[in-house]
Amino acid sequence: MLFQTELIDGYRAFLHGGLRAEQGRYRELAEIGQSPQVMVISCCDSRCAPEVIFNSRPGELFVARNVSGLVPPYTPDGATRAVSASLEFAVQALKVKHIVVLGHAQCGGIRAYAEEAAPLSPGDFIGHWMALIEPAAKAVGPRGDMPFDEYVTKLELASVLTTIDNLMTFPCVKILVERGRLTLHGAYFGVASGRLSVHDKTTGKFEQVAAEEYGRMFSAAPRF
Ligand SMILES: [Zn+2]
Repeated sequence: MLFQTELIDGYRAFLHGGLRAEQGRYRELAEIGQSPQVMVISCCDSRCAPEVIFNSRPGELFVARNVSGLVPPYTPDGATRAVSASLEFAVQALKVKHIVVLGHAQCGGIRAYAEEAAPLSPGDFIGHWMALIEPAAKAVGPRGDMPFDEYVTKLELASVLTTIDNLMTFPCVKILVERGRLTLHGAYFGVASGRLSVHDKTTGKFEQVAAEEYGRMFSAAPRF
């Protein structure tokens, strides 16, 4: 029923909006193929769609999404590895110039890790997956007296950097980064505020982008 109502209504809106505006581009991309310059790795979370946040057009972003937007370290063990396959295609075939790791506030996966949440199923897929952020948790250090939400935010930010470190364990990524042909970026989207911050390699901090413009539009928004 959902598909017959909301999704089809959404598709109708797309027909009149995005498709009408971009049909020529879709046709051209179908003929010549895609050649996006940017890969985005982000969370499955319904509130942080990269195409929406970056207002991207068809063919512009190559997106891999998974719980919390993580990348496991390079492990050529023959297992079926979704992120590695996406990354391999983006870097080796599409030859993207940038990879953006996009974290976000109120991330359920990060929160589940911080809460040491009970498994949702016997497979505990989320538990095993989120163990990937252990290096981020080590970098943040023990929570101590820190308010829980603040601790989760620190974990969310540190997790972006852990994912960038893991990307560098892929030989194809490392060599291109070292040759200056591929750049890795960390970013963070504040769901409640709509703020976008980008990791500054010189200060080591996440700095809000388009801050002046944002300030003019939303003077009293929440912190994240
Ligand atoms: Zn998330």
